[in-house]
Parts: sequence; C-alpha cells; structure tokens
Amino acid sequence: MALDWEAIFATRAGRMRASEIRELLKLLEQPDIISFAGGIPDPALFPKEAFREAYASVLANGSAGAALQYSTSEGFPPLRDWIMRQMQALGVPCKPDNILITSGSQQALDYLGKLLLSPGDTALVTWPTYLGALQAFNAYEPRYDRLTPVHGNRTPAAYREAAAKAGGRVKFAYLTPDFANPTGETLDQEARERLLDLAGDLDIAVIEDTAYQSLRYDGKGVPSMLALDVARRGDIDATRTISCGSFSKTLAPGLRMGWICAASHVIRKLVLMKQASDLHSPTINQMAMHHVAEHAFAQQVEKVRSAYRHRRDHMLAALQRHMPEGVSWTRPEGGMFIWVTLPDHLDGAELLARAIETARIAFVPGRAFHADGTGGNTLRLSFSLASDEAIDEGIKRLGRVISEAL
Ligand code: PMP
Repeated sequence: MALDWEAIFATRAGRMRASEIRELLKLLEQPDIISFAGGIPDPALFPKEAFREAYASVLANGSAGAALQYSTSEGFPPLRDWIMRQMQALGVPCKPDNILITSGSQQALDYLGKLLLSPGDTALVTWPTYLGALQAFNAYEPRYDRLTPVHGNRTPAAYREAAAKAGGRVKFAYLTPDFANPTGETLDQEARERLLDLAGDLDIAVIEDTAYQSLRYDGKGVPSMLALDVARRGDIDATRTISCGSFSKTLAPGLRMGWICAASHVIRKLVLMKQASDLHSPTINQMAMHHVAEHAFAQQVEKVRSAYRHRRDHMLAALQRHMPEGVSWTRPEGGMFIWVTLPDHLDGAELLARAIETARIAFVPGRAFHADGTGGNTLRLSFSLASDEAIDEGIKRLGRVISEAL
C-alpha cells in the first residue's frame, strides 16, 4: 500500500496550503491577459551591466577562489559594512555585529517566526498584511491577532488576555511601515511611536519589514521603527525592533539577498539558525551584490523611483477616470501597489474569475492577505510592470467589469 503521507506530515505542515489564487494566477501566462497581479520588479530596470561587471570582477583571478568557497554564516563582511553604513545614514547607529545577511528578506521572516513563535503564541499583524509573512509564520503554528495602528490598537491587557486564552503569549508585532504590500499605505510617525509604546507595554518584539522603504516617490520620509526605537533607547543593543531589509526591489530579486538589522544578542542567535539552515547565503552573490551596491545603488534607486512614480501616477489617473461610484482606493507615496475597496457585497475572487474570462485582465483578490479570511471586497493592483497603454486599457476594462457586477 502506498504511504499515507498526510498521516505522517507534522502538524505544522497542515497550515501550508497553496492558495486558490495561486492556481488562478497560473492562467496569467496567457499572452493576451493584462495583468496587475504580480508584485514583482520590472526586469527591464535591472542594472544588468553593473551585474555583468560585478560577476566578472569577483570571478577574476584574485578573488574567484573565495567567491566559489564556503564563507561565514554572518555574511560577506564588506556587504555587511555597506548595509551598516546605509542603516547609519537612516538614523540607526549600528555595528557589523548588528547585521546578518539572509537569502532575501523572506528567509528573515521564516527565521524570525522560528526564533520567536512556539505553537499557540500570538503574532500581531495588520489586516491585510503581506501574504508571504503569514505563510512564513504559519509554519510555526501561531495565532494571529489584529493590529490597527492607524485607528488605535486595543489595550495591552486585551491583547494579553486573548493570547493567554489561546494558550500562549504575544511575541511580536509584524508590519511594513512604508508602502505596505498589499495596501501601499505608510504609517506616520505618531502611529509608529504608539506601536512602540504598545510593544513596550506588552514587552514584545517589533518586526519591521522595510522591503519597499527606498521606493518613495513623493512626500517626506518617516523615520523607521528601528530608528525611533534607537532614539528612545540610545543604543541598538537595547532595542526591541528587528528590521528586515532587502535588495530585491532596488537592485534585483534573483540573487536572493536581504538582511536583518537588530540587537547583537538577537543576531547571534540568528547566526546559529542560519548555520543550521543553509550555512550561509551564496558567497559569489554576496560579493557581486556588494560590488553593485558600491558602484550603482544611488543611480539605480533614482532610476526605479522615476519609472515606478510615472506608472503609479498613470494608474491613479486611470482609476479616477474609470472606477464607478462606490469604489475607493489608496494613493501610495511609494512602493508597487494600489489597494482597491469595492462595495461590501462584491467578492474580489469572483470578480477575478469573471475579469479573466470576460475582460482578459487580472489582479489579486484581497482575502488571502487577511489572517481571518475577511476582506472579500478588496483587491490589489500592482503598477510595477505595466506600460501606459496596458494601464489605460486594463483599468478601463476593470471599471467595466466592476460596473457590471454592481
Ligand atoms: N516583504 C514584503 C512586504 C514583500 O512584498 C516581499 C516580496 N514580495 C518580501 C518581504 C520578500 O522579498 P525578498 O525575499 O525578495 O527580499
């Protein structure tokens, strides 16, 4: 008899499920579909020449041996130094000991779930939140409770009691303060300070996801949660905030390169986890990334900002022209996403099925981003890959599909 795999999977595997949306989105490979679904960077903007030079340079005689060899779990020291200087420029005085290189910030989220969550513990997240974070944390069998940082959170006692009732304690609050995926929204400084207050009262960590932080198109930058925390505590080693960064949205996602910046006590533990998990991120990629960061980061950030700013403006203008009464959407100051809220009785997943079939357009329905399965009347549009023509035509068709469903 064939092995009953389900019977021997660990309980944690029960929460690892492919979303139905992922299945629908497979249809998007069909060439006539205008897609606002994939939230990925535009490959036309990648600094290809800089990477070509970087790989040639790291594979040159003097450094090829090191590039192809095992290396330390903490990460390539010059790359950690570069990130350290970047963090310092953003108001976070830190040392190399405060930085761990990870395989994308996705690995950072997995490690932090592993480090902090026992089954039944509570993770505080916003509704909606980044789907990949929920997937990473799910493996550690948490319970989720809802953060509402803009409108004011519940009391510390209320969070604490609900967590205890579920058999664990609140461990951390996770959020993307700048240009969140999926909403595009940014938290103002006051909301960030209030969240640090709540975390202090609950005595929990704050996980700050800065994946889109460099992609600001207008408005004034807000200090990061980690910068605000360091300002309160006077020393990064006394902070409760763990910052996850990434090169994916600025330089390129294919090298899988991100980092964690936090108190050295936390980093030391994470280094052991990295060692046990994959020893270290690829040496050659870290060296190439360092080369490109040194030579091309500033120009590259300017280039992607300018391209995405234009696309955001174009999509906002098209929404204004084509959305029927009763539909609202966010106006992000950066990032890659606009979040659309439909009248309550409409369902984003049903709308997607209809939109693909009758209008050949696609987006991501919002329910999957909600830990409690609500948000059926929401959807995410990404403008990062779309041409002006695709935006004009696609948003016009979206307006029609929604109007027909109303
Ligand atoms: N955080 C957020 C908010 C994201 O949107 C993404 C990628 N879509 C990630 C983290 C992971 O990115 P990476 O692993 O490429 O750094």
